[in-house]
Amino acid sequence: MTDGLHGAFRIVGGHPALDLVNTVSPRLRGGASEHDYLTSPAELLAWSRKVELIDLRDFSAVEGTWRMAPVLAAKALGATLEIREAVYDVLAPRADGAVVAADGVKRGAGSAFERLMLRWSAAAARSMLIPVPDRDRGVAELVIGTSPAQLIPDRLVTAAVELVRTVELRQLRACPVQDGGCGWLFLDRSRNGSRRWCAMEDCGTRAKIRKLGERRRYLRTS
Ligand SMILES: [Zn+2]
Repeated sequence: MTDGLHGAFRIVGGHPALDLVNTVSPRLRGGASEHDYLTSPAELLAWSRKVELIDLRDFSAVEGTWRMAPVLAAKALGATLEIREAVYDVLAPRADGAVVAADGVKRGAGSAFERLMLRWSAAAARSMLIPVPDRDRGVAELVIGTSPAQLIPDRLVTAAVELVRTVELRQLRACPVQDGGCGWLFLDRSRNGSRRWCAMEDCGTRAKIRKLGERRRYLRTS
């Protein structure tokens, strides 16, 4: 992963589905981005491990399968990107601070829901309900991703549907693009709901420096 707008690639979303949305920088609605962190199956694999979507065992299984069948790897990447854009299209209109890029392609939230649902039902078809005896809570475990080739998109879409169903909308924010932010989505879990930036050390600091520069220019010219 190379450096984009963010000096170091940060995990700030507070949910795997938001972290997925934030693999593009800046994140503008329907607009072109300078940097995409998921341009190859290898990048997707490394990112999935980094956000702890998969453990080491899953990593080897996926990596082995993808190496044997590059077509399946490309398919999984394609599915992941479709899920990423669908999650963004569904959530961005409800995120405080999100803006639509001037050159934004109008994509309906309705079709985004449909795309998400299709991916989710395919993932459900590849999931298994396995009985677990001797437990205090629940009698079965839901195993998502029984097919290593599609394990990553299957887990992501399952997480995405869970988020879409349960997200606290007052916590859903976008790093403010109009103030120099990157448009990444995150959950503001601060007690007073005061988080404005994806990361203060990142967009927050950059905006502060810019404001300071504007102030100096203003003082010089006035
Ligand atoms: Zn940001």
